[in-house]
Amino acid sequence: MEAKYLPDMDIKELEQMLQDMGQQKFRAKQIFSWVAKGATDFDEMTDLSKQLRDEMKLFARVSGLNIRKKLVSSIDDTSKYLFELHDNNIIESVLMKYAHGYTACISSQIGCKMGCSFCASTIEGFRRNLSAGEMLEQILAIQRDSGVKIGNVVIMGIGEPFDNYDNVIKFLQLAHAPEGLNIGYRHMTVSTCGLVPNILRFSQENMQVNLALSLHAPNDRLRAQIMPIARRYAIDKIIEACKIYTEKTKRRITFEYALIEDVNDSAENAAELAKLLRGMLCHVNLIPVNAVAGNDYRQSSGRHIDEFAGLLKRRGIETTIRRELGADINAACGQLRRSELKEDSL
Ligand code: SAH
Repeated sequence: MEAKYLPDMDIKELEQMLQDMGQQKFRAKQIFSWVAKGATDFDEMTDLSKQLRDEMKLFARVSGLNIRKKLVSSIDDTSKYLFELHDNNIIESVLMKYAHGYTACISSQIGCKMGCSFCASTIEGFRRNLSAGEMLEQILAIQRDSGVKIGNVVIMGIGEPFDNYDNVIKFLQLAHAPEGLNIGYRHMTVSTCGLVPNILRFSQENMQVNLALSLHAPNDRLRAQIMPIARRYAIDKIIEACKIYTEKTKRRITFEYALIEDVNDSAENAAELAKLLRGMLCHVNLIPVNAVAGNDYRQSSGRHIDEFAGLLKRRGIETTIRRELGADINAACGQLRRSELKEDSL
């Protein structure tokens, strides 16, 4: 039998575990809090009896993730973490400092199936989903290592969160729990390439989590050139689902748009995008595309990015340009894991 992994468990499941052991249920909240405080060993749980701790050691583990490598930017306060999981798989998370506090960017899968042509996470293919606890422990491990308190979480690391829907929902609930990290849903963001049925499902969860939609093109023809998923879900269906999401949650949607020179950065593209999003509760986040080995995409020039943003703003679309954090420690999102895998295979 595989050992129980405590970060995966909510209070109800811990209560059940304790009951099965013939222990008192109320200990569940204590254990849950110890996990959220970043304990890695049962012996840190000093308000539990030694006998209970020893018994749990026989079939459960508190932690399953180790820092394999950490890179700290010398330009800003961004840190990149490479974590090794109990099965030796490697994932990547990022700690970013903003004026309003610390944000963790976490991975939801090992690799990705979506195949976006500009993205590094997809190149080595898909290995497996991360469990809810493996997502949670990325935050716990970052807090443990850095000593800071994470106030915001974005699921924008490796993987497509809506391709791992149930575990992502459970993770959001675990991170939200008042006995645990107690992070408000409004401080969490899920980013998706547009899996329409799960956007609709998500709108029914009553969670008020922020939704980011990786659009990257204003029409299906262009989108399909860079994102295979565009052949499955048309943009008008995505927009429809997003509108339902904003109506239900009253949360503003972020449309992410990576600007790739001569691919999706023309004035016509901007005009078409503005038309598409007109009247929506949304804003556009323009990302200068990061070059990724294996494609010859180039970033649009700074002037060009400003022009694209200006065109959107003049048409009434709120637009920001993503600040590049930790530019000296990453080549692109997902690149760190790739370079580590390469080193291993040498
Ligand atoms: N699968 C999810 C979340 C992960 S990626 C999604 O598609 O939204 C987080 C964001 O980074 C997405 O908007 C993604 O499209 C973008 N991204 C991926 N590769 C990039 C690159 N090389 N340059 C700029 N942005 C990139």
